[in-house]
Amino acid sequence: MKTINIAIDGPAGAGKSSIAKEISSELGFIYVDTGALYRTVALYMCEHEIKDDKDIIKNLEKIDISLRFIGGTQCVYLNGENVTDNIRTPEISMEASRVSAIPEVREFLFDLQQKIAKENNVIMDGRDIGTVVLPDADLKIFLTASPEERASRRYMELQDKPDCPPYEEILSDIIARDYQDTHRKIAPLKQASDAILLDTTDMGFHEVCKEVIELIENQLDLD
Ligand code: C5P
Repeated sequence: MKTINIAIDGPAGAGKSSIAKEISSELGFIYVDTGALYRTVALYMCEHEIKDDKDIIKNLEKIDISLRFIGGTQCVYLNGENVTDNIRTPEISMEASRVSAIPEVREFLFDLQQKIAKENNVIMDGRDIGTVVLPDADLKIFLTASPEERASRRYMELQDKPDCPPYEEILSDIIARDYQDTHRKIAPLKQASDAILLDTTDMGFHEVCKEVIELIENQLDLD
């Protein structure tokens, strides 16, 4: 049976994951956060102090990454250990962006992403889902917002945590990551030619969800 695949790409902090989570639970689809896969490779390399690209490539064979969906929530396992929470640090964000520019790392994670989409109705978010991973997706959305708006949303999310970085640091990390992700040679962050652009700078969360649901209803026959 053919599965339904919806691709959501866009820069860091554009709201891809919160929107995709909300909508996938409404549709009964699986939400796949592909950034978590790159973060997991980065975590392994950081934990083992592997820095050189050649060594990163050599060590990929020691990594087994799997995703499990528990109550609709994605958990990521690294060599059998649940690392879902460990991969959410600013250090791992930057390192994920760095390792994701290595073609062998992208190749290593490619089959896993395609297999999940082949076997399930998915909303998959990332940077290259509409362009590379699922070029035949039923619907492609490119979600973006200004760097300042994205940094301020992230700041609000982290504000109550003891180690919340200052707003300026979040903004400069976002700008640096955008630059790395859009300028890499392989699978750079870019809007697929057949993706619908949604700039959420001046939109609230519910407004964006409503708009995405409308796009899905208009493009797909889900009955
Ligand atoms: O989405 P998230 O911010 O968790 O992704 C972390 C990093 O992983 C991104 O900055 C990007 O470099 C990389 N990534 C990617 N391709 C994807 C998803 C994430 O290169 N499909």
